[in-house]
Amino acid sequence: MFSFQQYVLAESLEQAYELNQKKNNVILGGTGWLKLGKKSYGTAIDLSGLGLDQIIETEEEFSIGCMVTLRQIELHKGLNDTFGNACKEAVRHIVGVQFRNLVTVGGSLFGRFGFSDVLTCFLAMDSYVELVGKGVVSLEEFAKMPYDRDVLVRLIVKKDGRKVSYQSFRNQSTDFPVIAVCAAELQNGKKIASVGARPARAVLCSVENEDWTKELTFGSNMRASAEYREFLAKILLQKAWEELA
Ligand SMILES: Cc1cc2nc3c(=O)[nH]c(=O)nc-3n(C[C@H](O)[C@H](O)[C@H](O)COP(=O)(O)OP(=O)(O)OC[C@H]3O[C@@H](n4cnc5c(N)ncnc54)[C@H](O)[C@@H]3O)c2cc1C
Repeated sequence: MFSFQQYVLAESLEQAYELNQKKNNVILGGTGWLKLGKKSYGTAIDLSGLGLDQIIETEEEFSIGCMVTLRQIELHKGLNDTFGNACKEAVRHIVGVQFRNLVTVGGSLFGRFGFSDVLTCFLAMDSYVELVGKGVVSLEEFAKMPYDRDVLVRLIVKKDGRKVSYQSFRNQSTDFPVIAVCAAELQNGKKIASVGARPARAVLCSVENEDWTKELTFGSNMRASAEYREFLAKILLQKAWEELA
């Protein structure tokens, strides 16, 4: 369990950002991941008083505050109607309902975990993150950036008419995925996919030719070998196209 000496309920994003510049301070998401650590922090910065726990839908986009939980994503009708239930499919295997009621979009994306279903899912959409310091950057760019001390304010997902299908494979339900693929067919017919849990940060790639997995690197760990992951990625992409068809 982690600990901290001081707790601050942030009154503004600027205050949260200022406090977070100190290396020993920490932003609190749902603390699902932080709790696994044993680190002792100076100040814990809580963003839960800033109204960032809402999903706001307009004609053009979804604006998803960093304190929105994975359970909210799972149950949001607009998001799931627009993207063919891909969001629900991406998060429904993560631990259990109580856990998904706790953990946040901000913590999930900022962590850029190599096993992340959440990052894999939104990467295949026209997504952006708003950061206090750097402003709005595409999720594709954010996924490649090194960790820094910025604060993630919200995720923005554009409604651009693409069709999306999320597929993952687990050795056992609720375990980390062995591989995750989110396929998207854009309105102009172009086909792309994000591939996560390779096991490395999810990346976006073109899947127009049969050899598409060759542009990616797959790794081996206790869950699966690199060869098995590459094999499964092809199968999951096939399943995704079948679902979209
Ligand atoms: C046992 C277990 C199993 C899991 N299984 C899966 C799985 O199968 N698939 C999957 O996709 N995920 C999985 N996860 C990850 C989980 O879904 C969350 O992504 C994770 O817990 C982080 O979210 P959180 O809200 O708990 O963040 P926290 O633990 O609160 O924070 C995580 C990190 O992000 C930082 N942070 C939080 N919010 C912000 C912000 N707004 N701006 C800047 N930095 C911020 C924190 O300072 C910290 O460094 C699992 C986690 C656990 C503990």
